[in-house]
Amino acid sequence: MCHALLQDIKFFQLLLRIDEELADQAQAKGCACGGILHRANYPRKPRGCLNEMRADFESRFSFCCNRCRRRTTSMSVRFLGRRVYLALAVVLVSARHAGQIPAAARLSSTLDIPVRTLQRWRQWWKQQFPLTPLWQAHCARFMPPVVSDLFPAGLLERFAGTAKDALMRLLVFLSPITVAPVSLSKGS
Ligand SMILES: [Zn+2]
Repeated sequence: MCHALLQDIKFFQLLLRIDEELADQAQAKGCACGGILHRANYPRKPRGCLNEMRADFESRFSFCCNRCRRRTTSMSVRFLGRRVYLALAVVLVSARHAGQIPAAARLSSTLDIPVRTLQRWRQWWKQQFPLTPLWQAHCARFMPPVVSDLFPAGLLERFAGTAKDALMRLLVFLSPITVAPVSLSKGS
């Protein structure tokens, strides 16, 4: 199933539409200084992306204020911080890695993800994600509590609906993380 979503063009299109909406909301809100936001997207070279969708996934939506020149980058369900792999790959591959080592190995070789990267993701879920302002603010909502050793699989199963709906909801839940000042190292 998780493999299927990584090749589901409709799912990629859905993520793009959500990101466009998040970008529209950010732009409508304007800059904190009262200035107007102009489009100034960041170029990206996404990995784990369907070829057919690549052109649409090669920019992270961002804005520049016409008055104070400050950047506003909208929340994203496509990108998890500055990671080169798309958020859905980071979530799905990490979720598999927790309990299904052979399946995770198969998936990461399909997506050409180095084992080192996979280990870094696991570390991040286990050690850094629980400390993020996002998780600190929302963890009390999950009853019984989600065990941090089981991130992100244990978190994914708390979201309702089909595998597709649950993943979409989890990515929406995670989307503020991509604009919060968390340390996500580039290239991982
Ligand atoms: Zn401004």
